[in-house]
Parts: sequence; structure tokens; C-alpha cells
Amino acid sequence: MTIDDAPRDALRGGPRELLRWVATGAAVSRADLSRLSGLSPSTVSQRVEALISQGLLEEAGAGRSRGGRRPRQLAVPTGGAVVGAIDLGAHHARVGTLDLSGRVVKARTLPVRIEDGPEAVLGALLAEVATLVGSAPAAGDLAVAGGSALRGVGIGIPGPVQHSTGRIVSPSRMPGWNGFDVAAFCAGRVDVPVIVDNDANLMALGAHRTAHSELDHAVYIKAGTGIGSGVIASGRLHRGAQGSAGDISHCRVVADPAPPCTCGNAGCLEAVASGAALVTALREQGVPVSDLTGVIRLIDDGDRQATALARQAGRAVGEILAVVVNFFNPQVVAIGGRLADCEPLLASMRATLYERCLPLATQTLLIERVAAGQDVGITGAAHLVIDHVVAAA
Ligand SMILES: [Zn+2]
Repeated sequence: MTIDDAPRDALRGGPRELLRWVATGAAVSRADLSRLSGLSPSTVSQRVEALISQGLLEEAGAGRSRGGRRPRQLAVPTGGAVVGAIDLGAHHARVGTLDLSGRVVKARTLPVRIEDGPEAVLGALLAEVATLVGSAPAAGDLAVAGGSALRGVGIGIPGPVQHSTGRIVSPSRMPGWNGFDVAAFCAGRVDVPVIVDNDANLMALGAHRTAHSELDHAVYIKAGTGIGSGVIASGRLHRGAQGSAGDISHCRVVADPAPPCTCGNAGCLEAVASGAALVTALREQGVPVSDLTGVIRLIDDGDRQATALARQAGRAVGEILAVVVNFFNPQVVAIGGRLADCEPLLASMRATLYERCLPLATQTLLIERVAAGQDVGITGAAHLVIDHVVAAA
């Protein structure tokens, strides 16, 4: 099942914000929520009742009284109300459970062989979610197994996902996955909402909610084995008409010679600046390197060839980003993924951006690393589900 995510709580005191205040301890009563939101007690009560009826909030005991009737305390249920999240990468997957405020409860990283195909890979990862929730899956019924309160599962895929259907469309480096209906496959195995998106979008959502929620316009680059980006516009994840917004992987960059790309064109950003491209380019120069970890190690050691390639990659990313920044005028550009720690790449990306952008676009532009760490993807996946669950309430 795939649905549009909830509109941003443009007004203070939307259900998501009420939930967050309780989850973070900023509010323990309706009166606190009324004070924080500026909403009338009756409006707050109405929204709280809706959240309680959905099991997203509960009333726990009595709070401190300042004379008169003791107020009932609000809490986020601790009886295991969680969302499951899967952030699938080329070689590893991060799988976790998160509470309804978006905090990680449990998480672990599993090795993945993407070439084993979608049924095997997703089947194993859903089983891992079930294990984390605290019970083995009963046949076809993950949600009620062991009485746990799984509210939904969010899944990030390292390839293009058609948003309306949850289907994967022409991914690079994912043999056997083209056209696969992830949402339908998962819906047959769990009886809670399953929401599918691409990994860069989920990184963007996770990073925005944890670090930049006060900013309305942001671009997040995910630079790992592949390369992509997610866009936050007016405070919301912007997917465009089909879900491909932000996919910069096949934008053409200046490169001579232009290396061939998996898409059939040549000189695509992905063919020049992705982790996979760096591995290929180093091998062609006779440097025996087996994977991205090896490339990063060489760059950290100051290897001349690897460093030159990283600079070239940074310039290529900067060229494309400059177009994006001039066009979109974000407040922040943040880079995440395994290449984000690669200093020569970051430095030349930054230099190219300043060189190619309008002064007005870069005057107050923040250029940062995504700070949220390895759980940023599952955090974004969880927020996607939480927004859906709260919207339904
Ligand atoms: Zn391409």
C-alpha cells in the first residue's frame, strides 16, 4: 500500500506535533499541549481523543494537581507500539524498530546479496523486523504475532520507486528487481501499512526531521555505491509526479572521456562520481581495489590516484548541485552516504558550488554533512509510516 504522506503540520498543534511533544516529554497533559500549541483546550482535547482512539497516545495515572481535579497524564504507549523500518543498500541493510516519536528502539545491520532477488531479500528483512518486534512471525500475520503492536513498515530501496504503486522502475545494479511490486509483496506478508520509497528520499526525510525541521527548503545528496538526492520543498518531501524528483544519478556532467553508464548513456553523474564509478576507475588505472571501502581507505591514506578521482567526483557533484541550487534556492545542502566523509570530494564539491552559483543563492546557504549517522534512513522510513498512521487518526 502506498499513500501520500501527511501534509506538514503547517499550523502549530497538528496531530504529529502533539504526539511529538508528548513523546519527547515536553508535554504531559492536555493543558501543556494547549499552552505549547496556542490551541483552545477543546481543540486539543478533540485531537488527543483521536490519537488515543488510534492507540497512539494513552492516559496514564494522574498528574500533579495545582488544586482541584488532578489532570490525567498523557503518554506514548510503551507496550511495544513501534514501526518497522528497512533501509536497503547494495551490500547491507539497516533494519530497525522505532517508537512513534521516531526514536530508534532496536536496530541492526545485515549483509545483503541484492542479486538474490526481491523475494529472498525482502522476505529475510521482513523476518528480521518480526524478530526485532519481539516475536517470530506467525504464518502471514506479523502484526499480531506475540501481541506486539507493529503499526506499519517503511522500506527504502536503492533505486527508482514509482510512488503511486510502490513499484521499482529500472534500477541500476539490482538485477531481477525491475518492475517488482515491493508494496504488494510486503502487503501479502504483513497486515499493517507498508510504505516504499527510494533510499535518498528517506535519507532526506530522516535528516530533515532530525536536524533541519525548522528549514523549509533543503536538498540532501546520498553518495554511496550509487548517487541520488532527496528534496524537501516547503517543509515536505517533494517527489514530483511519479516519484523521481531529486534523482540526479543520470544527469550528464563534463567528463573526458565520458565513461559509459548502466543506463546506456555516457557521462552520467553516477558513472563519474558514485562509489561504484570510483571502484571501476581505479581498477582501470591498475589499482587493485575490491570495493568502496577499499577506495575510501586509499583516499584516507592520501593515495594520489584515488584522491584525484575523488576531487573529480566532487567537482561533478558540485556541477549538478549548482544547477539544483540555482534553480531551487534551498537553505541547506547536506551530503550523506559513505562518500560524505571523503574530504577531497567534499572540498571540491563545495568549491564548485560557490564558483557556479548565483551569489544570492549561496549567501546564506548551509553546506553540511548529514549528521544523523547510519540510522538516518530507517528514521526517515519510520517518519513516513508515523505520518501515515497519525494522518489516519
Ligand atoms: Zn546513466
